[in-house]
Amino acid sequence: MTIGIVGAGQLGRMMALAGYPLGLDFLFLDKDAGTCAAQLSPQLTGAFEDPKLLDQLAKRCEVVTIDWENVPVASMERIARTTPVAPPLAALAAAQDRLSEKSLFHSLGIPTNDHQAVDSREDLLRAVQAIGLPGVLKTRRMGYDGKGQAVLRKASDVESAWASLGSQPLIYEAFVPFDYEVSIIGVRSTRGEIALYPLNRNLHRDGILRLTRAPWHAPVVEAAARRYMRKLLAHFSYVGVLTVEFFVRRGKLVANEMAPRVHNSGHWTIEGAVTSQFENHVRAVLGLPLGDTSVTGHSAMLNLIGEMPTREGLLSDGRLHLHDYGKSPRPGRKLGHVTLLETTARRRDQRAATLLRKIDARKL
Ligand code: AMP
Repeated sequence: MTIGIVGAGQLGRMMALAGYPLGLDFLFLDKDAGTCAAQLSPQLTGAFEDPKLLDQLAKRCEVVTIDWENVPVASMERIARTTPVAPPLAALAAAQDRLSEKSLFHSLGIPTNDHQAVDSREDLLRAVQAIGLPGVLKTRRMGYDGKGQAVLRKASDVESAWASLGSQPLIYEAFVPFDYEVSIIGVRSTRGEIALYPLNRNLHRDGILRLTRAPWHAPVVEAAARRYMRKLLAHFSYVGVLTVEFFVRRGKLVANEMAPRVHNSGHWTIEGAVTSQFENHVRAVLGLPLGDTSVTGHSAMLNLIGEMPTREGLLSDGRLHLHDYGKSPRPGRKLGHVTLLETTARRRDQRAATLLRKIDARKL
């Protein structure tokens, strides 16, 4: 049985790594050759819009999913004419546009920050007037890892933000002075079975996820996050893994964005949960019974960004799990991650802080 995956990055690679033990095969489609998924699975190489490649993928696979949420919806629509696809196209479309995403959250009673669509310099001035400063101007589409964003702190930032981003549909939103950030990961199978992972606490630097700790003990926040996740899964009759990221302020959640796919803040589940998010995504899209999402300890996951520490240095801690995605280094690029597991949250937090300091000081 073959699962098709559009996009062949590390997420796809980890799906394949989770699916091979179940006896599954994978076929990727990506515009670049030499992707990190192609190091282990066959890949069709060409444009995401190429009808011939899309038809080939559809023909050769039982089901087709994604590893990148900006895959053109029209491409997935074409595949869906003959082959089941996951996530649902409506979820993919909503997640690709920050404005539709926020409207969706609003319609489901999921709190978001104040925001307005910005299509002209006048719109931006109006939005800044209405929402105030500080605020964040973001591209509505194709933003990731903090790209396509500008924080506006004072009136004079308006012009420079407009000059750098102004040529595309934008959204201006209130800056949230959050206490911390969390995410929740849920999964729903084609049979309607649902499973949720515990709450993740996330630390970002320069808009890129740096550290996730899970399970994060915040029962009230977690209960709200679970409720919102269930609403979204039900709304779309969702299939696969879905992730929602929130800001937490004074114990209340503000939804920032959703990702209709496996997520970086869930990488710890490979070692830290009975069944990983990657395996559960694969199970969900095939209609197999979902695996147990219980944790096996207290996990911390650190991203390795821009530059790889030495393998020897990382592995000298015999209890650290290293995932090297096999990508060439580039500033700001996610090259791999490490996960550590501890018996208590306190020990985990201490060990994670030490490791983070060592990596930052290039002592590994
Ligand atoms: P995003 O691409 O929207 O996930 O943004 C990346 C990161 O930038 C978030 O995880 C936050 O750390 C920060 N950020 C984005 N939007 C806001 C906001 N409105 N208020 C405060 N911080 C933000």
